[in-house]
Amino acid sequence: MLAASARWFKDILFPVSCVDCGVEGEWWCKLCRAKHQNECALWPADAHLDRGASFFVYEENGPVGRLIKQFKYGFAKDIKNVFEKIISEKKGFLRSLCSVGTIISVAGSIVPDLVGAVEPICWSVLPVPLHPRRERERGFNQAKVLAKIFLDSLNTPPCIPPPETSSGQALKGEGLTQNPPPIRGRIEEGVLVRTRYTPHQARLSKEERTQNVAGAFAWKGPAPAPAYVLLVDDVYTTGATMQECARVLKAAGAQKIYWLTLARG
Ligand SMILES: [Zn+2]
Repeated sequence: MLAASARWFKDILFPVSCVDCGVEGEWWCKLCRAKHQNECALWPADAHLDRGASFFVYEENGPVGRLIKQFKYGFAKDIKNVFEKIISEKKGFLRSLCSVGTIISVAGSIVPDLVGAVEPICWSVLPVPLHPRRERERGFNQAKVLAKIFLDSLNTPPCIPPPETSSGQALKGEGLTQNPPPIRGRIEEGVLVRTRYTPHQARLSKEERTQNVAGAFAWKGPAPAPAYVLLVDDVYTTGATMQECARVLKAAGAQKIYWLTLARG
């Protein structure tokens, strides 16, 4: 009752309206979302990154850009619900990033970099970390919020590290197309850390962004770093941040690094 009245007052004082068409009631209405439903993309390997996926095309003044900005800087925490809705509508696509079986069926051919992996793959989901000072200033890390939404949406079974095989033999891809194994993953916090407080990236060129994040991250978890890593962030712009995280992770022993963002510019 109390919560309902509080919500009523909030809606009266700060009515929510669609970031795209302005209609009241929702942060991003169904009609406007529908115009952006075909923007999901899988991205090939690039430098330290082995594969990636994004749900939307990023434009600073487009609806997703505005939603992200409101979420990060506008104290509009309930935008999280919009992200949950968007992602639950695209569960199949999300699976196609991490599931060996689905990747095979979507791409129509075997994706070589995961064939031969010992199943089940346990994805270590690492939100791109903020510097503790930045996280205090903002009150939260948007990448962590998104990582949780991604995993919840996949309804991942508990991630149990696979037993060591005595022979060390890989499966060589047998049976991978029939029953795709469940996607397993767990969010790991505090292992990939940002050690340097860096200026905001938004107004920097690609070269400046690369310099800005060089040496800004460190692996603080047990060695070696997990074999399969899924890096999560809100936006992939030039890739400088993702590449630097991936470089550090591979130097610490990670084998495959996939990335996942809400949008890519
Ligand atoms: Zn709208």
